Amino acid sequence: MSKPVSICVIGSGYVGLVASVCFAEIGHQVICVDNDEAKVETLRLGGVPIFERHLPELLARHHNRGVEFTTDLAGAVERSEAVFIAVGTPQGDTGAADLSYVEAVVSEIARAIKSYKVIVEKSTVPVYTNEWIRRVLERHGVGPASFDVVSNPEFLREGSAIMDFLHPDRIVVGANSERSADVLRSIYEPLTAGSYYVQPEALAGPCNALNPARLLVTSAQSAEIIKHASNAFLALKISFINAVARVAESVDADIEDIAAGMGLDSRIGPKFLRAGLGYGGSCFPKDVAAFHWVAQQEGVNFDLLHEVKKINETQKALFVDKVRSTLWTLRGKRIAALGLSFKGETDDIRDSPAIAVIRDMLEAGASVTAYDPAAMDRARYLLPLSSKMHYATNAYEAARGADAVLILTDWKEFAELDLDRLSDEVRFPIVIDGRNLYKPKTMLEYGFTYVSVGRPASYHEQERSALTA
Ligand code: NAD
Repeated sequence: MSKPVSICVIGSGYVGLVASVCFAEIGHQVICVDNDEAKVETLRLGGVPIFERHLPELLARHHNRGVEFTTDLAGAVERSEAVFIAVGTPQGDTGAADLSYVEAVVSEIARAIKSYKVIVEKSTVPVYTNEWIRRVLERHGVGPASFDVVSNPEFLREGSAIMDFLHPDRIVVGANSERSADVLRSIYEPLTAGSYYVQPEALAGPCNALNPARLLVTSAQSAEIIKHASNAFLALKISFINAVARVAESVDADIEDIAAGMGLDSRIGPKFLRAGLGYGGSCFPKDVAAFHWVAQQEGVNFDLLHEVKKINETQKALFVDKVRSTLWTLRGKRIAALGLSFKGETDDIRDSPAIAVIRDMLEAGASVTAYDPAAMDRARYLLPLSSKMHYATNAYEAARGADAVLILTDWKEFAELDLDRLSDEVRFPIVIDGRNLYKPKTMLEYGFTYVSVGRPASYHEQERSALTA
């Protein structure tokens, strides 16, 4: 592969850790920095702090070879040619991104710069952050010839983060100088020239030597906006299909058929047309708000984004209404909650619709037994410690004696449940599916009353006669 670049990645979260091991995987020498000492210790000892496919394998492959972990930011910056900032940019009170973590890191970098560095924004940031980073560095006395600031937004998705990084749809580099653009080009060259994909241990995926990753160089402002606009657009697609699902439901149409019919149009495409509980996680909610804020600051009316958010929020409330209208009262009811993470294949519970629904159930006086394949430890810290909140070791145990089973996260294993076994465990055969993982007809055949999103409910024989009596 091409010449290795010495890289420092600041932040060892979902993005920083994945970027670190992937840069090592494509041949670079990486130092990953975090100020969370416990996390760094875990990583040093070979532990894996987050649930992410292929991460344990790549960490084991590169631990103490291509990638090392430290809390010493200054030392790491000194030894690196490119410094990637991958700390959190949470939502602030006004909706704007809170950039205090980025600023703190930039001040520390400034004190450590002794030779030319490329400072790379990997965190999702509003337009002009690039310019602010430059100003902060200069205020700290770093000469303009000693650095360039580049925007290199990250598009990975939790759950498939490693594959997304190594087989990206595109790599965006927002650089205002050729020198810094060249450093980024050489970092990503194993992916863009395809040399990584012919390595014997390369993870196979959609890119290959004949069809390598594409790299797009833009201005820094454009790159910053590409990230915000991409996430806002994906969120809009989800809210759009959820709004269509409401119409479908009221006229007894089927949103799954509608989404399939729409998605076959190559101009629309099938992805992100899944009706359900709406989006969550650490990115879409805050990025929609931050992009709306950016537009407002620039005097641009982008209230469409407000609607996107509003639809998303009411989607959870509508689901809770469905549970109510199916079970009548919630006080004293026993609810099985399948799923805690904001989507399947991740342990991330930040802004998870599943957590919001469970809180509503508890507040309404129901007791909840939850199961999630990966997010239970994290959820225990977030959900109230209550005699009404329980955790099970699998989906069937969660369903034992339940008045209703709620499907809240689209984990693959929840789409493949043994429905006979589930039916044996529950008190009443009622499934309310916030992720449309089953066909209503199938659920009816297994004797369930099945309520989902944007589709007619199907009623178990007894329920039907009670309804029509
Ligand atoms: P995270 O919260 O998982 O990780 C951030 C890490 O930064 C933490 O480990 C924290 O301890 C560390 N940190 C904070 N301040 C620090 C400091 N001063 N010095 C050293 N380390 C410090 O966040 P994340 O999910 O990895 O997201 C990081 C950024 O990437 C955000 O801007 C996010 O919007 C963006 N992003 C996230 C995803 C995703 O799917 N999670 C995808 C694309 C982009």
